[in-house]
Amino acid sequence: MTTAPPPPWTASDSADLYGLPLWGTPFFRVSDQGEVEVNLGEMENPNWNSMACILEELEARGIDAPLMLRFGNILEHRIKLLNESFRKAIADVGYQGAFKGVFPIKVNQQQQVIEQICQYGKPYHHGLEAGSKPELIAALSYMQDPEALIICNGYKDQEFIDLALYAIQMGMQVMLVVETVGEVPLILERATAIGVKPRLGVRMKLSTPGSGKWIQSGGDNSVFGLNAEQVIHVVDLLKKADALQCLELLHYHLGSQIPNIRTIRSGVSEASRVYVNLVQEGAPMGYLDMGGGLAVDYDGSQSNTTSSRNYAVEEYCADVVESVMDICSKSGVKHPTLITESGRATVAHYGVLVFNILDVSGISSRLDLPTLPANVPTELKYLADIPKHLKAVNLQESLNDALYYRDELRSRFSLGLISLRERALTEQCFAAILRQIEKATKTLDRIPDSLEELSTSRPEIYYGNFSLFQSLPDTWAIDQLFPIMPIHRLLEKPEHEGIFADITCDCDGKIDHFIADTGSKKSLPLHDFNKDEAYYIGVFLVGAYQETLGDLHNLFGDTNVVSVELDDEGKRAYGHEVEGDTVADVLSYVEYDPKEMTMNFRSLAERAVRSGLITAPQRKTIMQAYREGMQGYTYFEQA
Ligand SMILES: *Cc1c(COP(=O)(O)O)cnc(C)c1O
Repeated sequence: MTTAPPPPWTASDSADLYGLPLWGTPFFRVSDQGEVEVNLGEMENPNWNSMACILEELEARGIDAPLMLRFGNILEHRIKLLNESFRKAIADVGYQGAFKGVFPIKVNQQQQVIEQICQYGKPYHHGLEAGSKPELIAALSYMQDPEALIICNGYKDQEFIDLALYAIQMGMQVMLVVETVGEVPLILERATAIGVKPRLGVRMKLSTPGSGKWIQSGGDNSVFGLNAEQVIHVVDLLKKADALQCLELLHYHLGSQIPNIRTIRSGVSEASRVYVNLVQEGAPMGYLDMGGGLAVDYDGSQSNTTSSRNYAVEEYCADVVESVMDICSKSGVKHPTLITESGRATVAHYGVLVFNILDVSGISSRLDLPTLPANVPTELKYLADIPKHLKAVNLQESLNDALYYRDELRSRFSLGLISLRERALTEQCFAAILRQIEKATKTLDRIPDSLEELSTSRPEIYYGNFSLFQSLPDTWAIDQLFPIMPIHRLLEKPEHEGIFADITCDCDGKIDHFIADTGSKKSLPLHDFNKDEAYYIGVFLVGAYQETLGDLHNLFGDTNVVSVELDDEGKRAYGHEVEGDTVADVLSYVEYDPKEMTMNFRSLAERAVRSGLITAPQRKTIMQAYREGMQGYTYFEQA
């Protein structure tokens, strides 16, 4: 009986394998040509563009991987989605207040990002949240819309307070959110000195615990915000100073990436109660600021797990609006203007990191054993004989034997009884036997657990041209999962299981957890790597937090950044190009002086000329190499 050949591997097999339709729709898809495409058009009217083509066009311009691609239309869509969803939820139930979102600068404070947010947010008067003095300084220069809010959180010194008050004086909608009781007297004093009525908020620590990886940022244990007693203290202070009329806003933040809609609902209910009470205390109020927390479905599972969320943006908006309305209406309190400080959900989708693979190592994929010379140790002969007896019924036994002989030979090496050459042959034989067993297990109806682990327990290492610490710090710091997949070759079935190592020489510089139906998995299906052909890997949904938290581990700097958009004629346009750091840039960040360094190196070279080690023309070549190195990209550059 002959078995029919398996059906050919298709683009949609690849899409399903990497879960793209679940986390990538409507922004990304796999084309029939087997490439990941990004939608640069409107969501209702898509315009699909191959990411591999984009990479090719950029490389032709001298802009190499690793690079961060930003897709402005995706950002525009996300801002629109949040605002329109709130508008719809408000209209659906007849809520009497409005929605005014702000973007928290800390989530991605790159200048182009803030500029684009101000641009795309304009129709909705979408504002900014500043958690520090530098962020307020940035906000005041980019936010020119007098109807948009600027919310000031964080600890505030006199300079911070003065700037906010001057902005109020100039007609900007700036709110100073009180984080500690101690800030109140200073704010009131500065307001009197400047001669402006301050606009105040209070940040309350709710008892609703956050959930997910960021659980500590909300709830009783949060280091931020005031507890009930302190809120009342602030109210009393304001009353005493005859300034309760300045209190307009209640703010809370439960933490980032809240996966469960129930947490969101209980937070907003608790906050609405506080809001009602503040009105009853006599404060004018008017604004309820629910902070961030709107989560991103990184793994596409739509579930209540840390990499996902069990609600859609529309549902979030509807639930929030209904909860506030319910509690305020029952107490006869006017519905407040709703504010959210959604960062992650606004910018995550629009950034994609693309890196190229430099090399692959790990176990060889060869099935045949090396030919053994005469006089090899008996154990090695036994090891090499295992394949002769390999059958479907004795796979487990063969694996046990192979492990036994390999370990035996390894200990003989430690005792000085076999040579390094013989040990190398041992390892070669062992790897080939494992491959043969692995191949044979695929023919079994039921695979024993110990054999099933064979293929995934020894993934190959794909060396990627990137620094985890610079570009994906949350992968390292909090084991965050991002969707990762090759952006081309998707008509080929990926036959290897791999993990990624970056080019820092840190053993933590690796990605070895990947999204999966079952939560996470330890390796990713990848293609055969051929050095003559570029192999690009995309890390998706990285627009939030990753760029900002990155550090200079091993002195790898910022990557190149490019915005990709369609121009008025519908042609691809590359803009907002930011060249990644040069070696000189990163060295000067850590206080080196590139000029002085070149001078020092020059004297080393001159000494070598004088002592006859190199010639003068050689010195010239060497100095040129040093200077070019100094001006080059910190990442691996193709010669
Ligand atoms: C970090 C932070 C946010 C952003 O949270 P996301 O979950 O990214 O939306 C909003 N508000 C405050 C006060 C924050 O500290």
